[in-house]
Amino acid sequence: MIVIMKPQATQKDIDNIVKKINSLGLKAHTLPGTERSIIGAIGDTNAKNSLKTLSTQPGVDNIYPITKPYKLAARSTKHEDSIVTINNIPVGGKHFVVVAGPCSVENKHQIISTAEHIKSQGAALLRGGAYKPRTSPYSFQGLEEEGLKLLAESKKKTGLGIVTELLSAHTTELVDKYTDLIQIGARNMQNFALLKEVGKLKTPVLIKRGLSATLDELLMSAEYVLAGGNYNVILCERGIRTFEKAYRNTLDLNAIPKLKELTHLPIVVDPSHGTGNVKLITPMAKAAIAAGADGLLIEVHPKPEEAYSDGEQSLTFAQFSDLMAAIKPYVELAGKELVVVAK
Ligand code: PEP
Ligand code: MN
Repeated sequence: MIVIMKPQATQKDIDNIVKKINSLGLKAHTLPGTERSIIGAIGDTNAKNSLKTLSTQPGVDNIYPITKPYKLAARSTKHEDSIVTINNIPVGGKHFVVVAGPCSVENKHQIISTAEHIKSQGAALLRGGAYKPRTSPYSFQGLEEEGLKLLAESKKKTGLGIVTELLSAHTTELVDKYTDLIQIGARNMQNFALLKEVGKLKTPVLIKRGLSATLDELLMSAEYVLAGGNYNVILCERGIRTFEKAYRNTLDLNAIPKLKELTHLPIVVDPSHGTGNVKLITPMAKAAIAAGADGLLIEVHPKPEEAYSDGEQSLTFAQFSDLMAAIKPYVELAGKELVVVAK
């Protein structure tokens, strides 16, 4: 069930409802919002009848059942777009963000020079993998903690928030210490143990769509994190596997308006992995913005031909500058504002 509070409801009114829901053996989730508070009562639905009596409590506007399997993620639970704040950068609603950086953190010069360049062009967050999920065990696996330290150094130098992948639950504490937005990779989208771990944190989480995951499955993965009490979740469309062999993945742009209908969570699009091809990245970035994306995730490398991973889909600094110039009118046309960090 979902309890919609009146806009003028006080904190005392909210606390009273939360207490009553919890006393029925359910878990109350107060979803953050600017207009009014929404409290989800999640758990055994046998308590449904007792919940109905909450409608007479002070500050309550309405109560109704949640019909979707993903309850906290559903747009029908919370109509207003969620805005997730990462290192003071808001994402969602009118706020559009560009996350950029190399696939893998390789060395100090590589990551710091990339951070400085992407910042100068209007990116607000720096991405870079320190733990890499590779198809081959013989491929570069990441610099691990050394990579996290280099990301921290880049943040100190530029002020850019850090986005990096959490590959396994045993490194959660370590990765969390260095990260402003924890990436759950496509291959881990249904690693439920990992999702439960990040659900216990307050650090925002970016969940990438699995290679063959449906939108419902993606939303159920988000639900794991929300149900744990971490409401700072962003979804990422990064391409799916189809019969088409002309590019690495098929970027499913249908997913953006459809997800906007199904969920209030922000949606970022990754045309780098979504196409696997430098030439396709800018056109697909524009299309993603036109379809309603709240942000982009772009791989950039000072020398793509020497990259340890994903060089063929990494933009040079000059190509990234061109992409930023090309997308600006699209962001404006979509009625959004590019969020940048203070110089
Ligand atoms: C990445 O962002 O470099 C990455 C490995 O992404 P995905 O999990 O989408 O393949
Ligand atoms: Mn990559």
